[in-house]
Amino acid sequence: MASPIRVLVCGAAGRMGAAVVEAVNDSEGMYVALRADPALTTGEGVHRDLGAALAAGEADVMVDFTRPDTVFANVTAALAAGVHCVIGTTGLTDDQLAEISSRAESGAANALIAPNFAVGAVLMMRFAAEASRHMLAAEVIELHHDKKLDAPSGTSLLTAELMGGDPPIHSVRLPGLVAHQEVILGGLDETLTIRHDSLSRRSFMPGVVLAVREVGNRAGLTLGMEALLFNDG
Ligand code: NAP
Repeated sequence: MASPIRVLVCGAAGRMGAAVVEAVNDSEGMYVALRADPALTTGEGVHRDLGAALAAGEADVMVDFTRPDTVFANVTAALAAGVHCVIGTTGLTDDQLAEISSRAESGAANALIAPNFAVGAVLMMRFAAEASRHMLAAEVIELHHDKKLDAPSGTSLLTAELMGGDPPIHSVRLPGLVAHQEVILGGLDETLTIRHDSLSRRSFMPGVVLAVREVGNRAGLTLGMEALLFNDG
C-alpha cells in the first residue's frame, strides 16, 4: 500500500487554511504533517515560518492559502525543496505564473494552481464560456466577503479569459458573503444568468483534496481544476 501523502499547510491559521487542515486529516491516504503560519505558536509540526517547516523535510505536498504578497515566495521555496505545490491563493501576476511554470517544468516538483476549487464554480466557468459563444454580450459580477485582499477575484479573471471576449467585471465586497459569482449574458430580447454560490469554505475542500492526491502525477504546472474533473479538460 502507498504511504500516506504528507501535507504541509501554509497559512494554516487562516480561514481557508484551517478548513484545509480539517479536510486533509479527514481524508484517506493523507495527513497534515506540518503547518506554517505566523499566527501559530505551539503544536506538533507547527512553524511560524515556511522555511523552517520545509527544512523539517517531512512534506510531499504543500497547500498554500496565504496572501497575494507572500504566495510567490512560498511556492518558489517549496518547489526548490522538491515539494509539490497546490496553490489556492489568488492574485499571482502573469509574470509570476510564468516563473512558477518554468520552475515546475525544470525541477522535480509539480505545481497546481486553481483560483477556485469548488466543483460548481468550475462548471459555472465552463457554462459561461459555452454561453458566450451564442449570446451578444456579457458582464461578470463577483461578490466576496469584505476581508478578501484582491479584486477582481481570480475566478472572475479566469472566467473572462475562458469567455474570450473580455467581459466587464464588477467586484462587490460585503460582510456576510463567502464567494459568489454571476455571469449575465444578453441577447435579442433575452438574458441568461449563470450563478454560483460557495455557501461555506467546505465547498472548496473536495477539490483541494483531489488536487493534493493528483499533483504528484501531473508534471509541470497545471492551471485550474478542469483537467482533474473532466476527461476532456
Ligand atoms: P486569511 O484568513 O487571511 O488566511 C491567510 C493566512 O495565511 C493568515 O493566517 C496569514 O497570516 C497567513 N500567512 C500570510 N503569509 C504567510 C506566509 N508567508 N507563510 C505562512 N502563512 C502566511 O485568508 P483566506 O480567506 O483563508 O484566503 C487565503 C487565500 O485563498 C486568498 O488569496 C483567497 O483569495 C484564496 N481563496 C482561494 C480559493 C480557491 O478555491 N482557490 C477559495 C477561497 C479563498 P497573517 O494574518 O499573519 O498574515
